[in-house]
Amino acid sequence: MNFTNSEKIQQRANEAILGGVNSPSRSYKAVGGGAPVVMARGEGAYFYDVDGNKYIDYLAAYGPIITGHAHPHITEAIKRAAENGVLYGTPTEHEVVFAEMLKEAIPSLEKVRFVNSGTEAVMTTIRVARAFTKRDKIIKFAGCYHGHSDLVLVAAGSGPSQLGTPDSAGVPKSVAQEVITVPFNDIEQFKEAFHHFGDQIAGVLVEPIVGNFGIVEPKEGFLQAVNDIAHEHGALVIYDEVITAFRFMYGGAQDLLGVKPDLTAFGKVIGGGLPIGAYGGRQDIMEHVAPLGPTYQAGTMAGNPLSMQAGIALLEVIKQDGVYEELDRLGKILEDGMLALIKKYNIRATINRLMGAMTIYFTDEKVVNYEQAENTDGEAFAKFFKLMLNQGINLAPSKYEAWFITTEHTEQDIQETLKAVENAFMSMTVE
Ligand code: PMP
Repeated sequence: MNFTNSEKIQQRANEAILGGVNSPSRSYKAVGGGAPVVMARGEGAYFYDVDGNKYIDYLAAYGPIITGHAHPHITEAIKRAAENGVLYGTPTEHEVVFAEMLKEAIPSLEKVRFVNSGTEAVMTTIRVARAFTKRDKIIKFAGCYHGHSDLVLVAAGSGPSQLGTPDSAGVPKSVAQEVITVPFNDIEQFKEAFHHFGDQIAGVLVEPIVGNFGIVEPKEGFLQAVNDIAHEHGALVIYDEVITAFRFMYGGAQDLLGVKPDLTAFGKVIGGGLPIGAYGGRQDIMEHVAPLGPTYQAGTMAGNPLSMQAGIALLEVIKQDGVYEELDRLGKILEDGMLALIKKYNIRATINRLMGAMTIYFTDEKVVNYEQAENTDGEAFAKFFKLMLNQGINLAPSKYEAWFITTEHTEQDIQETLKAVENAFMSMTVE
């Protein structure tokens, strides 16, 4: 494949944009460098780059593109919204409709507020939990990524871990000291944290199904135990469903797993590809937010007409029967096919998959926590990534990220992908 135009544009990007990218995860630093491919157009399950190369896309913009690129129903909603003015600064009915749809989908949401990103949503849930409990400390799980606000950039997985800077410069020590980090899926260490700091902990922040050191499911009973222990000590439980809501099930991970948090943060997935975030939860907790209560959160762009109407259109599409069954069916074909190839070529790799999301880890052992994900073979992943890219399969350039199947992927796309995986494994075995 020829990447001449991508390389030229990236050279200009390096001059004009810090690091050549607007989000660090987009660089190829974690996969041995090189100019990231510059995409020109997305359509359904496919990307076309500025050199005219076609890709089957499994990045799905790091999760949000559940219904594929430029889905006609969502595109139409965005066009219609734009024609009526893109920003009002006044209430609109669309905000209400979308909030009602979220509440209906996710039973723990008694009240909702819209913001503009997952970062904002999580940051605000923490503030609300602190205001409600009148405590300062937060527990998070190692490797879970919750956006780039100060407090959660500690053992933050995803982008920061692939750059080898899990704790960002510029985060005051005094802030980091308010965060207690424990391993995911380890209830003993979680209990220990409460034993030491129980009466100071405002909230526990967790990705109910991890998406930021690959796809990692909670062990049986883990989330219920998190809830029980936190509540016993008067702390709130905050689910970060920025990736998981509507990805695995219409009612979110909490519905799939049958455990209810006190507060939930949403982000990228609910906007149909437009900038968005939302948070919500128990009425008595949410009442602490302005204008009803003393906890401040605001936003000029919050609830903007474009994001609201794109989000409504997305939910209309994925609410239809059979969506999640089909994502699961295709996911299983991909997983089974890859497992067979791993065996055939004797590759040291395992797969974690849930429905239409999966991760290949280059390691022998089943990955259930961040330490294990860190210890997987990054060089093998880097080789695999480039071999796949050169065959027109677009993956996230990091061993910590997931592959996301969309409603637009077909069985033929999966079979083509498996052919590319086989070629990649053959090359890796020969070397
Ligand atoms: N939480 C989770 C679980 C995420 O995956 C992300 C983004 N990858 C965020 C929060 C932050 O969202 P945003 O990038 O929209 O600020």
